Amino acid sequence: MIKFNPRPIAPTSLSAEKVENTKNLIAQKVKSGQKPSTSNPNDFPSHWIPDARRELWKHQNYRCCYCERSRGLKRESDLEHFRPKAKVEEEPDHYGYWWLAYVWENYLYSCKPCNEDYKKNKFPLLPSSQRAFEEKDSLDKEKPILINPFDEDPEVFIRFDWQDSNNLFVKAVQTEKDVEDRGKKTIEITGINEDRLPEERAGDLLTLEGIAKTMHAAVYMKDLGMDSSGLLEKTEKEIKLQTSSKSEKSFIGFRRAYFRKVGLGPYIAND
Ligand SMILES: [Zn+2]
Repeated sequence: MIKFNPRPIAPTSLSAEKVENTKNLIAQKVKSGQKPSTSNPNDFPSHWIPDARRELWKHQNYRCCYCERSRGLKRESDLEHFRPKAKVEEEPDHYGYWWLAYVWENYLYSCKPCNEDYKKNKFPLLPSSQRAFEEKDSLDKEKPILINPFDEDPEVFIRFDWQDSNNLFVKAVQTEKDVEDRGKKTIEITGINEDRLPEERAGDLLTLEGIAKTMHAAVYMKDLGMDSSGLLEKTEKEIKLQTSSKSEKSFIGFRRAYFRKVGLGPYIAND
């Protein structure tokens, strides 16, 4: 996971009358004591599709907010509600954050496996915080455990463990700064060490190793007083390309972590 640039403005379709009407219908239902449900197609019609999903997909440079796999808009593609709209796994009596179902700031673009197989309706809070159950309750009193890449830098909490390697199963682990275990729990909630993800992340390692070797050679030549400026410039550009949030590649956080590990941290893109 990597930090995202500030959210673009909300698509106008989210303020359309039909969205407002839907919000009112859900509010009425809740007021009468009924729990809205995602299995009832009338409760949460997908007004967010396609505009909101497409906007975030582009903004996130086609990568899932959690696992950072690059995805086409129609392949394994979801609109993730950071605060789940119809259920909260940790609170069986909670109706879900239904009032945020059509709120732009509650959305992220994710892949289907991260959203539907792992994160689902999980939304744990730190014990010191107070959960919002109704629209009038303050969200500021909640301290979510799950890291939202629009609000915080996930790289502060999550790093990669290169110990156990032929480098083929590099797992995400918590950093030393993760004193409240939010990184550790975010890894569990989002499943970013599950399935084939560690292997997929390692898929480009040969390429990254080649770039790192070239860079080290160029720096070594420079230290010996040889002119390696052309090679340095070209390779630095390549490292930026591999690690830029604007790149369309998968696993930017992983690529950055690799270059940091091999002492090339100063060359990675800072965007
Ligand atoms: Zn994902």
